[in-house]
Amino acid sequence: MGGRKSKGKKSLARRLKEYKDARQRRSVSGPFICPRCGRKTLTIKKGSKRPDGTIKITARCPACGVNGSVFMKYSPIFKAVDYYNFYVDLVSRGEKVAL
Ligand SMILES: [Zn+2]
Repeated sequence: MGGRKSKGKKSLARRLKEYKDARQRRSVSGPFICPRCGRKTLTIKKGSKRPDGTIKITARCPACGVNGSVFMKYSPIFKAVDYYNFYVDLVSRGEKVAL
């Protein structure tokens, strides 16, 4: 019984890399409809929560070159689509969002 454990053991470095890869994949969501070019190529990347309770959202569209970051209040119930809506709302209101 004890033999099975060592067989599937991965090195710590490898496990850490897989963990980081998985996290990175999770933090990027999409694609969504780009508010500038209308193509469904916009991705939303969530940054980590900051000490002041905000989170950095980066919206990227490889089709037209949108690359904007906004800070918004972090909420554990918000999903990427909520941040996307927030971003689109800012853009539609003409807020100064780097596009
Ligand atoms: Zn675009």
